[in-house]
Amino acid sequence: MRLIRYSSGKADEPKWGWVDGEKVGGLSDAPFRSFRRNAAREPLDKVRLHAPVQPGKIICVGRNYAAHAAERDAEVPDLPLIFLKPPSSVIGPGDTILLPPQSEQVEHEGELAVVIGRIGRWVAPSEAASHILGYTIANDVSARDLQRSDGQWTRAKGFDTFCPLGPWIETELDPADTLITCSVDGQMRQMASTRDMVFNISHLIAFISSVMTLQPGDLILTGTPAGVGPLLDGEEVQVDIEGIGSLSNKVRADEHQSVPDV
Ligand code: ZN
Repeated sequence: MRLIRYSSGKADEPKWGWVDGEKVGGLSDAPFRSFRRNAAREPLDKVRLHAPVQPGKIICVGRNYAAHAAERDAEVPDLPLIFLKPPSSVIGPGDTILLPPQSEQVEHEGELAVVIGRIGRWVAPSEAASHILGYTIANDVSARDLQRSDGQWTRAKGFDTFCPLGPWIETELDPADTLITCSVDGQMRQMASTRDMVFNISHLIAFISSVMTLQPGDLILTGTPAGVGPLLDGEEVQVDIEGIGSLSNKVRADEHQSVPDV
């Protein structure tokens, strides 16, 4: 099943829904609780899709593909290397990624994102699947120059618009061996299978939930394959994941060009 947050007509407030072919219908409640699906009658191409979840927290995994660690001259870590992106970085499909004036090297990172469906702490790997609602596509947009210079990654990964998500949550995906690609203006930049992850999703959920409680709606970005590269003003970046769909976003320079002296 494909779950969405969408709005139509003059409404700005997104509501929960589901996709049936080329039509969409509403849900009676959030998909983290028990819900009913209303009949899908509105054409998909007539509604606006929003980010399919508003996460309480976004937990990201660094260097989870060996080839990406190698291209950054970094070791594959012995344990998952985790960091956070703020929920304020989330944008939806078709929204615009803004290049901040503080950075001269903003890069794309196409990633498979896990949407948590059920609260969990100290989750065993064998129990991890029961805490997953589904999967969506994420772009872990990163200011690489700031990531290098700051050491801590909060600023480099945390700008507004740096977490495009969508277009929907796919609840049926088998994430063991699915293809991720990322292209910029139609040119392929990244391509890998999720089977190349260093730490698989069950182990990531076990590891992260040994640190912090996972809540319904939380997101885990599972790391990016090799091939990360620059995003420039005027370009369009698209991440495709087999079995989910496509997430594409335009890239623009932020008009706010003066950075306060601090
Ligand atoms: Zn990443």
